[in-house]
Amino acid sequence: MWDEVRTFIDEHDSFLVTTHIFPDGDAIGSELALARALRKLGKRALVVNEHPTPRTYEFLDPDGSIKTYTEDLDDRIARCTGAFVLDVGSLERLGNVGPALERAGPPTACIDHHKTNGGFADVNVIDPRAASTGELIYDLVRALDVPVTRGIADALFIATATDTGWFRFPNTSPRVHRMAADLIELGVEPARIYAAIHETDRWERMELVKRVLGTLEGAADGRIAYFYLTNAMLEETGATEEDAEELTDLPRPIEAVQLILFFRETRGKIKVSMRSKDGPPVDTLAGKYGGGGHARAAGILMEGELADVMNTIVDEAKALLDSGGR
Ligand code: 5GP
Ligand code: MN
Repeated sequence: MWDEVRTFIDEHDSFLVTTHIFPDGDAIGSELALARALRKLGKRALVVNEHPTPRTYEFLDPDGSIKTYTEDLDDRIARCTGAFVLDVGSLERLGNVGPALERAGPPTACIDHHKTNGGFADVNVIDPRAASTGELIYDLVRALDVPVTRGIADALFIATATDTGWFRFPNTSPRVHRMAADLIELGVEPARIYAAIHETDRWERMELVKRVLGTLEGAADGRIAYFYLTNAMLEETGATEEDAEELTDLPRPIEAVQLILFFRETRGKIKVSMRSKDGPPVDTLAGKYGGGGHARAAGILMEGELADVMNTIVDEAKALLDSGGR
């Protein structure tokens, strides 16, 4: 599975490594692990993302090696002769890094676990059975015979822990637990990592949670939970856009809930986050409106007013439940 990637690495000395907008734990962890592995092989790696590293993951990158894209970086990007695109099903999901990459024009390799990934890169390793992209990077690092340093192990642990909801979601396979066990043997401290990510919120974020939960409604006999976040709520609470990440699972504890829809105003658009607990897959519905994702977690960035987008998508979700997901 890794021969082509190995050849790709052999052929180049200097790599750009990038991932999707609003990077999550899998995105950041996969990038850092791969960049560190490339450097172990004597290669150069420049990690650039559209959006800054969320505060909760900064401890993983104490030197600030991950750059936030500005045009000033174009020269450095142009000097990379190969590019790795991670955890992304299409170039549109790279924000401004996508056009920058196309202008520079290096050959690309994509490592990803999205079923919707059509294989847009020159070298593609797409495995939807993998619970996280980090799981694939772990495989690659071992195939390359690179020692799994503590820095690589921590990054990969975060990738797999976050994309499996800390080993709760149905994508949590024996392979996930074996990988986690290996990484813990290499020194990873799960309790410390959990606390660093999930027990470091500011009060402003909890004020935001209070407001956001105030909007929670049920539909379809309580099988759909939907709620929203407005720009005004951010202003009132002093919370940041980053504080608005990872709120989608808040209604998950409700037994009756099968589908969760979270709507969020962001930069003139509406971001829709969808989760299916034990309901029908949501990736097809996301795809219908230009989004994508996985069966149980998908998203869309939509034009329009919050109320209109909410009406449209809640109706779609009701129809999806009525059709039994067909
Ligand atoms: P989240 O709701 O956590 O932002 O995203 C859940 C999943 O949906 C992500 O892992 C990603 O695969 C997918 N996703 C979210 N937003 C978008 C989007 O705007 N476009 C596409 N293609 N996928 C998205
Ligand atoms: Mn992922």
